[in-house]
Amino acid sequence: MANNENHLMDSIVSLCKRRGFIFQSSEIYGGLSGFWDYGPLGCELKKNIRESWWRNTVQKREDVVGLDASIIMHPRIWEASGHLAGFADPMVDCLECKKRYKADNLCEEQGQKLIKTDKGFALPEGIKCTACGSKAMTEPKAFNLMFRTFVGPVEDETSVAYLRPETAQAIFAQFSNVLSVSRQKVPFGIAQIGKAFRNEINPRNFTFRSREFEQMELEFFVKPGTDKHWHHYWVEERLKWYHSIGLSADSLEKYVYKKDELAHYASACVDIMFKFPFGLQELEGVAARSDFDLSRHQQFSGKSMEYFDQDTNEKFIPHVVEPSAGVDRIALALLCNAYREEWIPKDESMGGVIEAEPGKPVPENYEARTVLKFSPRIAPFKAAVFPLLKNKPELVEKARKIFDTLNNRWPCFYDHTSAIGRRYRRQDEIGTPYGITIDFQTITDNTVTLRDRDTMKQERISADKLTDKLQELLAD
Ligand code: ATP
Repeated sequence: MANNENHLMDSIVSLCKRRGFIFQSSEIYGGLSGFWDYGPLGCELKKNIRESWWRNTVQKREDVVGLDASIIMHPRIWEASGHLAGFADPMVDCLECKKRYKADNLCEEQGQKLIKTDKGFALPEGIKCTACGSKAMTEPKAFNLMFRTFVGPVEDETSVAYLRPETAQAIFAQFSNVLSVSRQKVPFGIAQIGKAFRNEINPRNFTFRSREFEQMELEFFVKPGTDKHWHHYWVEERLKWYHSIGLSADSLEKYVYKKDELAHYASACVDIMFKFPFGLQELEGVAARSDFDLSRHQQFSGKSMEYFDQDTNEKFIPHVVEPSAGVDRIALALLCNAYREEWIPKDESMGGVIEAEPGKPVPENYEARTVLKFSPRIAPFKAAVFPLLKNKPELVEKARKIFDTLNNRWPCFYDHTSAIGRRYRRQDEIGTPYGITIDFQTITDNTVTLRDRDTMKQERISADKLTDKLQELLAD
């Protein structure tokens, strides 16, 4: 990472902690690598992401229904899915400093490729530990990313179970039940939001690669032969959703898998990538996975996964198109996308706002502000209400009344402490799109000032029109 990007990520991590978006898990005990806790604002942000996805993917459609399955499932599910056998990354340890690496990443970083052998994998000549420089490394060994646990009081091999490494498999395992109760016909989908767990070797980039994270997955079941059409459809649908929550087209990229990069059963896969400060990285994968998953569960469970098409009298195992996204990665992308440091001239005649230069002191006659330019749709609070002074009962009473009315409708924030400028800055920093100030003029003519977070412009409007105005500004 270049210095500027480093500075940017550090500033975002620091704001997340300072303002209560994201804390390190178990921080008072020194933290636990790969685990994160979402504070008061972080959980609002995540809730807004989930709700927007659910509304868009499930509730607004007639052809998708939901599922909320258990995290621990029958271990045969992971045999059928291939996770037990295949969800293993070859790892190497440095014999000197004991640092552990994903073997393929280590080779790639050093311009080489991990060698596949009859027995497994081998490191090419000259690969060294990036931490201490030693060339004394262990042989690459498979390491299963699933967290193991035991069900019941006896801890032996017969009671082993796993925390799910993805939510998708429960959808396949419940395919027949959902189909029989939902009166759906192919093409249709089953969606789920929930926690997933992977014992990632190298959790990094803040929450980007965590060991506990949340997925939003859709399995869209289609007639064999229509995979290409539906795959294309879902890539476009998903991109539209990202735009709707404020990630513009120029912050995203599609990565189209080449034939030799696809899993043997898949016919297409596109990753939706976001330009993070630490590089272009995956937010979501949209894969056409054929009938692989349902066929495997049919084979392993002995239960039919066939679908009978009443219109054509055909029986088939549906193919599936899977858009699979991570809530935490999207939350991080939204934070990175929204984060700005600006210098604001104290006198308007000096010109407009300028972008702050990292590490440089604020120029004379300018004031610094940090702002999260969230789309109103995903901002934790939609508006903040301020009485100009807290010791004037008539202002406070009016402000409380306005706050109660608005807060009844949207999550709002009430703040009467410190100077008004500081209160604006505090809301800017957490991305609240609108600020409403109640001052002495309010008492005489019932107008308030409405301040826009991004332009910092203020307009005076009647307090009676606030709900309609916000409704218009916050509209879908
Ligand atoms: P990567 O290549 O980054 O490990 P993946 O291709 O293994 O990701 P999938 O199995 O396709 O990921 O999972 C779907 C989505 O779940 C990802 O696009 C991502 O948003 C999220 N996800 C996967 N692993 C993690 C993780 N360790 N931490 C946070 N989110 C994750």
